[in-house]
Amino acid sequence: MIAFNKPYLTGKEAHYIFQAVYDNHHISGNGVFTKKCQTFFEQKYGFKKTLMTTSCSDALEMAAILVGIKEGDEVIMPSYTFVSTANAFVRQGAKIIFADSEKETPNIDADKIEALITPKTKAIVPVHYAGMACDMDKIMELAQKYNLFVVEDAAQAIDSYYKGKPLGSIGHLGAFSFHETKNIQAGEGGLLAINDEQFIRRAEIIWEKGTNRAEFFRGEVNKYGWVDVGSSFLPSDMIAAFLYAQLENLENIQAKRRKLWTQYYNGLKPLEEKGLLQLPCIPEYASNNAHMFFLVCNKYDERQKLISFLKENGIYAVFHYISLHKSAFYENKHDGRLLDRCDHYSDTLVRLPFYFELTNSDVERICSEITRFFS
Ligand SMILES: *Cc1c(COP(=O)(O)O)cnc(C)c1O
Repeated sequence: MIAFNKPYLTGKEAHYIFQAVYDNHHISGNGVFTKKCQTFFEQKYGFKKTLMTTSCSDALEMAAILVGIKEGDEVIMPSYTFVSTANAFVRQGAKIIFADSEKETPNIDADKIEALITPKTKAIVPVHYAGMACDMDKIMELAQKYNLFVVEDAAQAIDSYYKGKPLGSIGHLGAFSFHETKNIQAGEGGLLAINDEQFIRRAEIIWEKGTNRAEFFRGEVNKYGWVDVGSSFLPSDMIAAFLYAQLENLENIQAKRRKLWTQYYNGLKPLEEKGLLQLPCIPEYASNNAHMFFLVCNKYDERQKLISFLKENGIYAVFHYISLHKSAFYENKHDGRLLDRCDHYSDTLVRLPFYFELTNSDVERICSEITRFFS
């Protein structure tokens, strides 16, 4: 059986964890490796300030607190996304206004956003699906025009760009995931990127349970205490140590993933040309970080049959999000608008096995089985 996902290990993870534990004697949060990782991200991608978190879900929750979401505020986001994108804002009392996807990609359709803005709108949360950039110029223009905050859900978008700008660095805040299904992983882990300076001080306080502990350790205040809301959003330095091993291998990991992606694309292109399926369509302003390889079938039944056919032939392929506006939790809170494109992706999108250790002959076999299915 070809697995759907296998978390990649560089070989240095355990070594750095040992260093954190036995050399640095600092395994709680904000230790040597946390700082190394944060510095890496700030230098490589130009984020003003970064804070490692225990997950992307947590980074999004911090973002929702930072932009000041309160009961009754409205937040616009795609319906074709993971629950965490919405949960973070719902927990602060927001009403989620779901927008439809683009025709060419599952990303939020930036042209549909303006009609959804009301005096209650506080933020827009674009999600860069499969690491492909949303149309950020349009989104940032709307945010400026209506005085809204933009929080990028960049969970899948590490090392990906919009017109040359790193994703996660364009909105006021950006959230990344290092869950084991992502390109760079630490089992569970995340990062908050803070691009608007006004949020830096408060972000550190929220990160450290609502205390000004970070300022105390920098010698800026002579005692620390409870100054705001917060939680324990910072991960153990062992998680950061693990992640650091991955970061040292970022170029290598990305190069391999891009190669596999291109092999899939070329292998399946003839089926797209015959109109049998749709391959990812990367907008000209977006880079490809090879986070996943997906294809879109023409019909729900066909997608289900393809997944079963692949399983019978030893290949584990999976569908993806169920539209959030149709979820058990949100269905009766949604305003009833039809979101056809989003539903189409829910019904027809398939993700193929994709991970560093996948071999060229695996990809060849998967492409030939898919070709066999369609003939
Ligand atoms: C993976 C993912 C998340 C959640 O990340 P965690 O680190 O598991 O909390 C949120 N949004 C999107 C789009 C994701 O793909």
